[in-house]
Amino acid sequence: MAEKRDYYEVLGVSKNASSAEIKSAYRKKAKELHPDLNKDDPHAEEKFKEVQEAYSVLSDDNKKRMYDQFGHAGVSGSGGNPYGGYGGSYTNFDASDFDFGDIFDSIFGGAGGGFGGFSGFGGRSNSKRASRGSDVLMRMDLDFEEAIYGCEKKFNLDVVEDCDECHGHGGFDREECSTCNGTGTVTTQQQTILGSFMSRSTCPKCNGLGKTYKRKCSECNGKGKIKQKKKITINIPAGINTGDRQRVSGKGSPGTNGGENGDLYIEFVVGEHNYFARENDDIYLEVPLTIAESLLGCKKEIPTIYGNVKINISAGTNSGDKQRIKGKGVDNKYRRHKGDMYLIFKVYTPKNLSREQKTLIEKLSETPLETEEIKKFNKFTEKNDK
Ligand SMILES: [Zn+2]
Ligand SMILES: [Zn+2]
Repeated sequence: MAEKRDYYEVLGVSKNASSAEIKSAYRKKAKELHPDLNKDDPHAEEKFKEVQEAYSVLSDDNKKRMYDQFGHAGVSGSGGNPYGGYGGSYTNFDASDFDFGDIFDSIFGGAGGGFGGFSGFGGRSNSKRASRGSDVLMRMDLDFEEAIYGCEKKFNLDVVEDCDECHGHGGFDREECSTCNGTGTVTTQQQTILGSFMSRSTCPKCNGLGKTYKRKCSECNGKGKIKQKKKITINIPAGINTGDRQRVSGKGSPGTNGGENGDLYIEFVVGEHNYFARENDDIYLEVPLTIAESLLGCKKEIPTIYGNVKINISAGTNSGDKQRIKGKGVDNKYRRHKGDMYLIFKVYTPKNLSREQKTLIEKLSETPLETEEIKKFNKFTEKNDK
């Protein structure tokens, strides 16, 4: 539940540390924090695991690069996560409505400029290769309950896709480009103070494709692609947790020159609950007890994420005691795992007793109430004074 620490900080190295430095720092830390040598520390295992995790990422070039770029989000969920594998550009959207306006503009705006330059005599014409659009990562907030039970989410997304009318061609009745005679390049004479030069550049009419269309598509204005707001619906399986990702195929950045769109990845951020706490698939609940309930034991109605259940609480239950309710944790459809529920008891002692209550407690205190711990402590107190 705690915030993850920075991996470099965990190993105690700087961000520019060499792989040898990382390795030696890991060895030192692993030795120092080994649980067998730290039996007094209740968090020893946790600390040791943290070091191992940090090293597993920083010692792997690929994971390290992801981590440097994206932080923990870049490397989490890679182990056995069916939705993982995201490797594209990172865009952090907070709103559930967003668009790819900037990306769209860069394709239909000045992109042609890069192809118009000199390529010199005998230079090969610039071929416009199809390239896939980059993947996009978006964050989505989920309520505690939505994540546990699963839900359907709808949001609007500006998606750039092939025009339906012309199937992405931008026009109808293909023919050879009359400007470049199908070569895709044009040769022009340039007058400079040094004399005249011949230069070859991409044909401005067909953009180097060598083909044009007799009729331009009016739907997409010849661009072949259309940006439209689409209502996207995703089904989120029960059990999603913060950091889990879901892929929406083909809804990332648009491809260029006939390349397919990248994918959209949605990374979830799950909210907290006022009473239930979640750790992986286990649910924790603090259960307040009166002193009488703690002394005598009781049958108590307990809320779970699947409704209330009656639980027997044994006599002599202390603050901090833990009781497991098997199978009442998160039924995780995404990882195919079912968690448990843990009740953590806390005894609340009243501050203002009535006269009658006070008499009763005083009566009780005349009987032996010392537990072993109290007896031991009393012995220590006695010895300490000599
Ligand atoms: Zn042309
Ligand atoms: Zn069209």
